[in-house]
Amino acid sequence: MAETPEAERRKILVIEDEPDIVRGLRDALEFEGFDVQARGTGGEGIMAAMEWGPDCVLLDLMLPDDNGYRVCETLRKRDETVPIIILTAKAQESDKIRGLEVGADDYVTKPFSVAELIARIKAIFRRQQRMSSTTDESFAIGPWTINARKHTMQKGRATKRLTFYELEVLKLLRERSEETVSRDELLEKVWGMQASPTSRTVDNFIVKLRRKLEEDQKNPRHILTVYGLGYKLVP
Ligand code: CA
Repeated sequence: MAETPEAERRKILVIEDEPDIVRGLRDALEFEGFDVQARGTGGEGIMAAMEWGPDCVLLDLMLPDDNGYRVCETLRKRDETVPIIILTAKAQESDKIRGLEVGADDYVTKPFSVAELIARIKAIFRRQQRMSSTTDESFAIGPWTINARKHTMQKGRATKRLTFYELEVLKLLRERSEETVSRDELLEKVWGMQASPTSRTVDNFIVKLRRKLEEDQKNPRHILTVYGLGYKLVP
């Protein structure tokens, strides 16, 4: 058993109805020093997420009371930043895309290896840590000041929260200011996904981001579409 003081243990919520999988996950995660709670329905899972405030959620797609996508959407509405990893028997690319569109951070297909799942959880935590330690930087996009450490964008008295992925997209576009970044590159570098035949995920994401950032989202001035190629940032 890893020896981590109680107060520093990361909390993982498992929303899954198959007892064997829950048992296996619980054993492995506790062995790694994580604090684990499990719920067997979407409704109970959402309640537990609200009350317990987990650091990461593992979410099964096929739950007895609800479909995991809807549970994911609800979780995301209430907490924009908690990492959500979807567990599912479905392997099709379209499911993966749909999962990411409703706000999941990662995806593992059953039967998955627990070691691989734990590696992904740790990778998410490392990314978060790296982000909060290296990024007290802030940068401007139009009238907004993006604060990477606080996950916020600010203009005068208005402050909006940025999700993990929104910030990552803005950072990548900013690193390459005035250059075109392709959808495939965004998908790969930000979401860690291989280029897929449909890059709608990225497009939908950009639409939402513009809604937050652009004065007139129909005539964006900062996140520009480079037709047939990708996107570029004009700060
Ligand atoms: Ca299930």
